[in-house]
Amino acid sequence: MIIAVDGPTASGKGTIAKALSAHFDLPHLDTGLLYRAVGRQVFLDGGDPDDAGDALAACSFPDALLDDPRLRNEETGGLASRVSIHPNVRKALFERQRSFATQAKGAVLDGRDIGTVIAPEADAKLFVIASVEARAQRRFLEMRERGVKVTLLEIADDLRRRDERDRNRAVAPLVAADDAITLDTSGLDRDEAIAASVAAVERLVAQKRGGGS
Ligand code: C5P
Repeated sequence: MIIAVDGPTASGKGTIAKALSAHFDLPHLDTGLLYRAVGRQVFLDGGDPDDAGDALAACSFPDALLDDPRLRNEETGGLASRVSIHPNVRKALFERQRSFATQAKGAVLDGRDIGTVIAPEADAKLFVIASVEARAQRRFLEMRERGVKVTLLEIADDLRRRDERDRNRAVAPLVAADDAITLDTSGLDRDEAIAASVAAVERLVAQKRGGGS
């Protein structure tokens, strides 16, 4: 079984994908981490994230970089969003994601284009959304816990900027697949969001087994 979980930054898709992976006993890939690694590698190389050549060169980052906690910070998130608009970068990362998705055990992948580009044949597709306010509030609390000094307004502005870039890029923009279930987590806490997503996947899979409707 392949489960695709797509959605904007801080929508809760990562938490949901991890929980689905545990619930259905499937391996999980956070595809955002690959783009973050490319963004970080461009920085380490002293390259320009807006230059397609520099960004492509950074796609051969060493695997150990995926374990670097700095990939999770906001600066790297911004770089990831810039390198991810280049079609050659998306192409270079395609095979790695595709082979993860099609492994015999099945898989859960989260990102922006899993249900539309990486695994259009996925058995269940969730499109996780939340209001900018709810997402900014979550990010704010997370960052405060880590001791990062930033205002709610700065976070909301950054989220809007990234949404804009992800939605409007020419290749693989952030968009729900036609057969995805949209899950709005704005008013849900963590456990409620997880319960709703497990129920949605079970419903989609049962529908598929029953031959549609
Ligand atoms: O999900 P996360 O915030 O880690 O993703 C970082 C950036 O990587 C996103 O803003 C997006 O631009 C890009 N990305 C993408 N396609 C994916 C996953 C992430 O373009 N499948």
